[in-house]
Amino acid sequence: MAEDLLKVEGLKQYYPVSGGLPGKKTFVKAVDGVDFEVKRGEVFGIVGESGCGKSTLGKAICKLIEPTDGKIILDGEEIQDYNSNQMRSVRKKVQMVFQDPYASLNPRMSVRDILAEPLIVHGLAKGKKEIDDKVVELLRAVGMDDYHARRYPHEFSGGQRQRIGIARALAVRPQLIVADEPVSALDVSIQSQVLNLMSKLKKEYNFTYIFIAHDLSVVEHISDRIGVMYLGNFVEEANKENLYKNPMHPYTQALLSAVPIPDPNVKKDRIILEGNIPSAINPPSGCKFHTRCPKCMEICKREAPKKYQVGDDHFVYCHLYDKDNPAVNKTESKSPAKDTNEPEAEKEK
Ligand code: SF4
Repeated sequence: MAEDLLKVEGLKQYYPVSGGLPGKKTFVKAVDGVDFEVKRGEVFGIVGESGCGKSTLGKAICKLIEPTDGKIILDGEEIQDYNSNQMRSVRKKVQMVFQDPYASLNPRMSVRDILAEPLIVHGLAKGKKEIDDKVVELLRAVGMDDYHARRYPHEFSGGQRQRIGIARALAVRPQLIVADEPVSALDVSIQSQVLNLMSKLKKEYNFTYIFIAHDLSVVEHISDRIGVMYLGNFVEEANKENLYKNPMHPYTQALLSAVPIPDPNVKKDRIILEGNIPSAINPPSGCKFHTRCPKCMEICKREAPKKYQVGDDHFVYCHLYDKDNPAVNKTESKSPAKDTNEPEAEKEK
């Protein structure tokens, strides 16, 4: 088994909010105690609805924001408390690609200067000729022509700008690239080109990716393993095959039931979730999904579920899979949704 490049333990990212009760501090719990690992060379997809904390988690891993609590261990180094000086060497190992390529590129800098900047800052090229050669090499790696170096971000299409963003991340030859919704601002026809480019570069440079997206089809296309997030926590983690063929968490089942299948002969029941995602300022007690879960039981309102292994490389945070807990009782269920993935504990009854 490949070793872990990244290990995240109990990571929290809280933001204080004003206007709470007097004498009581109120926080938005954007990321609320997350644990996961990413193996060297894999693509770990993070998926969830807007506001679930996935982008905040990506920024915290890259230390673009200071985590409130928890550990971030990158390539064996604990980096959560590193200051900006200490982070300089780490920046060579981890880079981020952003959702909006236009906003992330300085409009006053030419592409040559945008790509030269990380090379100079990290001492990876010296002298004009070496820098220019490396800029051209980077442009070619992302499928762009040499003359594009002289142009400015506004002269490019969205897809080309995202290629420039990827080339900038590539410049320092990082071990880990955190890509936050890298194709969601692009036309569908361009999305697959950028995804294919990212897959190609991964093979060539042996990157590890964390790929964050709300679109399950996009995540399926590129990921090896996937974590599903809901309101600041993971609810299910599995390799791609297990997650898409056999989703076990009621939230994942609902998300996947909404993904259209191109074959008109394949029919599936859509699971409609009631209500909106609750506020991260005052999340529900127990299992945070209990206010929308079609399989909610009494215990779910009181106790947060632990992580249960339900198969090879397949983990779920749900009381339905706690076979040893007598409080987990099918009769408590309020309106079980139809699906073919009932847990073993349920089937045996
Ligand atoms: Fe639903 Fe309970 Fe499982 Fe949460 S723990 S997903 S509320 S069954």
